[in-house]
Amino acid sequence: MALYKEQGIVLRTMRLGESDRIVTLMTQGSGKIRAVAKGVRKTKSRWGARLEPFTHVDLVLYRGRDLDIVTQAQILSPFTPIRSDYARFAAGEVVMEAVDKVMQDREKSVRTFMLLLGALRALSLPDEDPLMVADSFLLRLAALAGFRPALAACAVCGRPGSHGKFSVAQGGIVCESCRTGAVVTVGEDAVPYLDSLLNADWSAETPEGVRRECSGLIRAYVEYHFDRPIRSWTHMPR
Ligand SMILES: [Zn+2]
Repeated sequence: MALYKEQGIVLRTMRLGESDRIVTLMTQGSGKIRAVAKGVRKTKSRWGARLEPFTHVDLVLYRGRDLDIVTQAQILSPFTPIRSDYARFAAGEVVMEAVDKVMQDREKSVRTFMLLLGALRALSLPDEDPLMVADSFLLRLAALAGFRPALAACAVCGRPGSHGKFSVAQGGIVCESCRTGAVVTVGEDAVPYLDSLLNADWSAETPEGVRRECSGLIRAYVEYHFDRPIRSWTHMPR
């Protein structure tokens, strides 16, 4: 009847009564959903670790009016390496919180789901820098949400060039005649690095100072345009 199958990633979980839990998931086809997993907190729960944050699961759900009900869950990937390393875990938390904040309930976006899955895969790889993965993810998530920063030309008049000034509120780099309000002076390596993050094609050789400068800028940019703070950021090692 109202049963349906989906795959999704557990963004967060919340207690519900004595033994149940509300699970927030970003699914491939049904967007962000909230579903009840009954008996998940009992010691002999059949759910085990299947509905923990970061887990990629195959689900069978019953569609409810407000909350859906999880009837079956199978792990596709537990993304274990993210849980066993503090920097990866902290970066993963930022990624999950950003998706949770930017997506409305039942808002569908296959691209957001794929972007999230790609970020969790990258965070599980030993060679990937967690901060760079999270920063690239956030810029691309902002682009998907309609806030792609202008990096090749002034965000306002379109005059090509890097201009050396970045305006969070005006949406990217801005030229001298268009800039208004608060602008950040960016070093000459910053804009190419931001562009490489936006295209998921960054170099691990990028100097620490540039990474840090851009990371702060990305945080300000995302929080401004999503109009929500990303609280998990405070746990990121710098
Ligand atoms: Zn301009």
